[in-house]
Amino acid sequence: MKTESLCQHAGYSPRNGEPRVLPIVQSTTFKYDSTDEVAKLFDLAEEGFFYTRLGNPTVDAVERKIAALEGGVGALCTSSGQAASMIAVLNICRAGDHFVCASSIYGGTFNLFAVTLKRFGIDVTFINQRDGNEEIEKAFRPNTRLVFGETLTNPSMDVFDIERFSMLAHAHNVPLIVDNTFATPILCRPFEFGADVVVHSTTKYMDGHAIQMGGVIVDSGSFDWKANGLFPELTEPDTSYHGLVYTEAFGKAAYIAKARAQLMRDMGCCQTPQGAFYLNLGLETLPLRMERHCRNAEVCAEFLSAHPKVASVKYPGLVSSPDRALAAKYVPKGASGVISFSLKGGRDAGARFIDSLGMISLQVHVADLRTCVLHPASSTHRQLNDAQLADAGIDPGMVRLSVGLENADDIIADLTQALEKA
Ligand SMILES: *Cc1c(COP(=O)(O)O)cnc(C)c1O
Repeated sequence: MKTESLCQHAGYSPRNGEPRVLPIVQSTTFKYDSTDEVAKLFDLAEEGFFYTRLGNPTVDAVERKIAALEGGVGALCTSSGQAASMIAVLNICRAGDHFVCASSIYGGTFNLFAVTLKRFGIDVTFINQRDGNEEIEKAFRPNTRLVFGETLTNPSMDVFDIERFSMLAHAHNVPLIVDNTFATPILCRPFEFGADVVVHSTTKYMDGHAIQMGGVIVDSGSFDWKANGLFPELTEPDTSYHGLVYTEAFGKAAYIAKARAQLMRDMGCCQTPQGAFYLNLGLETLPLRMERHCRNAEVCAEFLSAHPKVASVKYPGLVSSPDRALAAKYVPKGASGVISFSLKGGRDAGARFIDSLGMISLQVHVADLRTCVLHPASSTHRQLNDAQLADAGIDPGMVRLSVGLENADDIIADLTQALEKA
């Protein structure tokens, strides 16, 4: 099936007389006839649901759908995008390990990596994703275990050169993890360009209606964990599972099986059946919504770049964008609904502009079907100092505009009157 059809049909196919719509299995637990059967489930010797933290039929169906959309071998839903990024890294890094990460990433991910994972003893080197290979090579160390970047960066809207970074990562025998939140598998499928693991905040476009927090990790199944002995937690016996070796027991799906069986078991940041149901509703209309988000954003980006009060616009879909070639390669159908721009009047003009908007609302959210704005420097990226802000591609007067599904004329009209007052 093609993408649009997978959005409707992947993950759940009812048999004769079963509900047409994915049911919410609102149960934390599942009944079994014998201790023997439960023991087999606990040994991971048999597949089956036994406790919703580790798996639930509703959540499972959505995981299968997202895995199909990304072209992966398996997926794990989490309680938020933050939890997905955390588990994706912790699954292959332990204290003493190190990883390489693009600096222009979501502020929450930046804090997780730069502060909290550092406290866990996991070190990170942030690199400028526009630097040449020679410069980026310098960040790798013998204990480097992965490379991380965002397809379309939040909020600076840079395009990550997935193929180049996958080659750099693979040259050092480590996987590339890509946060594909803004692109969604409708606009970009990072596995086709060599990424090994994809994470999403499903809170954004996948849900699309701003109703349910969530995240997901998808495993491509293509990384060879056994090749170089760098990932003993996948290739050597897990004492917490009677000496199970993930690469032997789960083959290509070793990474995602371990993330669930070990880290989700221990950390418990799972998606709920009801949450997965909402997410599934969002996924069903994702292709249509992404198309409209892109078309509306293109109109707004053109309008903003021609406006005398606007100093700069960052949208990879613009002909004038320095990322034009990368956008044509990675997001040929459109660069999502997110635009970042700066007003000539700097921080104050940005604030006046936001405070003057009518239909468009100020909210700490992005990638929603209603058009919304945010001032990153005073909100999502508030913990970053000026140098870190600059590294993340953000200037203090930058406004992040998330173009929704309203009629483009109404969005432009609101932008016009607020810009007049800025
Ligand atoms: C929002 C976001 C996250 C974090 O996701 P939550 O669901 O808010 O925890 C991670 N990455 C990107 C690109 C995001 O936009």
